[in-house]
Amino acid sequence: MTTQNWLQQRIKREQFEKYLQDGKDFINDADIEQTLAAHRSPDPARVREIIEKAKTITRLDPAETAMLLHVEDPELWREMEVAGGEIKRKVYDNRIVTFAPLYLSTVCVNNCAYCGFRSHNHDMTRRVLTQEEIRKEIEVLAGKIGHKRLIVVFGEHPDSDIDYMVESLKTIYSVEVKVKRGIGAIRRANVNAAPLSVEDLTRLKDAGLGTYQVFQETYHHETYRKLHPQNTIKGDYQWRLYCMHRAYEAGIDDVGIGVLFGLYDWRFEVMALLHHAIELEKWFGVGPHTVSFPRMEPAENAPYVRETPYHVSDADFRKLITVLRLSIPYTGMILTARENAQMRRSLLPIGITQTDASSKIGIGAYSQLADESQHGDQQQFILGDTRSLDAVIREFAEMGYITSFCTAGYRCGRTGEQIMELLKCGKEGHFCKLNAALTFREWLDDFASEETKQIGERLIEKEIQEIEEKLPEAHPYFMDYYKKTLEGVRDLYF
Ligand code: SAM
Ligand code: SF4
Repeated sequence: MTTQNWLQQRIKREQFEKYLQDGKDFINDADIEQTLAAHRSPDPARVREIIEKAKTITRLDPAETAMLLHVEDPELWREMEVAGGEIKRKVYDNRIVTFAPLYLSTVCVNNCAYCGFRSHNHDMTRRVLTQEEIRKEIEVLAGKIGHKRLIVVFGEHPDSDIDYMVESLKTIYSVEVKVKRGIGAIRRANVNAAPLSVEDLTRLKDAGLGTYQVFQETYHHETYRKLHPQNTIKGDYQWRLYCMHRAYEAGIDDVGIGVLFGLYDWRFEVMALLHHAIELEKWFGVGPHTVSFPRMEPAENAPYVRETPYHVSDADFRKLITVLRLSIPYTGMILTARENAQMRRSLLPIGITQTDASSKIGIGAYSQLADESQHGDQQQFILGDTRSLDAVIREFAEMGYITSFCTAGYRCGRTGEQIMELLKCGKEGHFCKLNAALTFREWLDDFASEETKQIGERLIEKEIQEIEEKLPEAHPYFMDYYKKTLEGVRDLYF
């Protein structure tokens, strides 16, 4: 098939037009601006009521969210942050899930004005990893570093089409590496790729996809049009906006939405993310599994990174994370290594549930297939935190967070609507707490440095004590699995 034919067949209008109302999608820019304008000076007593509502793990309304976005009093912000931390602990306890990004291709037919992979960046050497090269990457990720979860990233191009994606997932899951005590393997591969059709998404699901992640980048129609040339696939705002509707139709119920902050006004984008969650709840009874909020980073030959008037300051970034935590309290929140170590440390307690570590975003970079892979001009953008997984886990443990490599929920069918219900009532936490301790034990024995192991041991002892106190009926079963894990048995879960 020629590239031209491939391009023409990508967008299937009938797969999203049925959701439109009079040709319009569910993001009403004027309505969002109006709601924001109408709640510029919120009454502190009302703000406190809204905080209390969020603490019951109830999603907020757009008007309530607009009020939170306009709080000015530092004391009220502090109360909101404390509430965010409480919500996080209620739903996710002290667990933090870690993963690594894996870039499989740097080819892309699109021309997004902020991205180093854009087709007009002629300084980038384009590559698509072969299955053998992917295997080598996994041998390092799962065999040397100890990752169990990946976000696998693809550019949009006929050379990395759905056949390639499916084959790659199969390769990723097939690699098993003998490590100190057990076997290192990837147990969950999430995908960040271009919007796909229902047919292609069904194939991804069948290949063992974890979460399907697509960021709208900006929900603001006019800005979207400006940054994504109309003669590219990505130029179609609605094809992208409705990709999670198609994912649900394909039976994928763990979906991740997000905004690239820095493209447009951050308050508008937070409101739009909320509208996206409401829309998914309306049609499919369940909101997004995760929300991501990458901030735009420097990228080679990407003009908008310098031109944008919407860069988000550290202080505003903190605010938007706080409001998202309160507005969609049941949703997982992903903070990436785009942010530096200090930022990550300070944002974690507000309500972050997932983060990446030991990340490399150059193609073939984990196994150093290409010498130039980690050079800034050969990457999509530049990372802010490149510390090892061991160093990051040690720091989390010192802060009282247990790193969870648990992937059981997905493999036992506790996903989508089911997991959301369990999360809302705090019950999923029971399984997660047990599985976090088991997978942390595995990682300490298979991959940790001596220093990290010592700190980790103290944390795990505290966890076991808590399991005994809070989940006495589960404690004996847990201890049975825990002892087996210590003996080298792997992948035991509840
Ligand atoms: N090509 C697919 C797409 O655009 O959806 C998926 C891969 S793309 C490499 C993944 C994400 O990287 C994009 O959705 C965008 O939000 C983010 N990104 C692009 N340029 C960036 C930059 N300069 N800084 C930070 N993140 C960026
Ligand atoms: Fe391609 Fe995605 Fe980068 Fe846009 S953001 S140029 S679609 S890789």
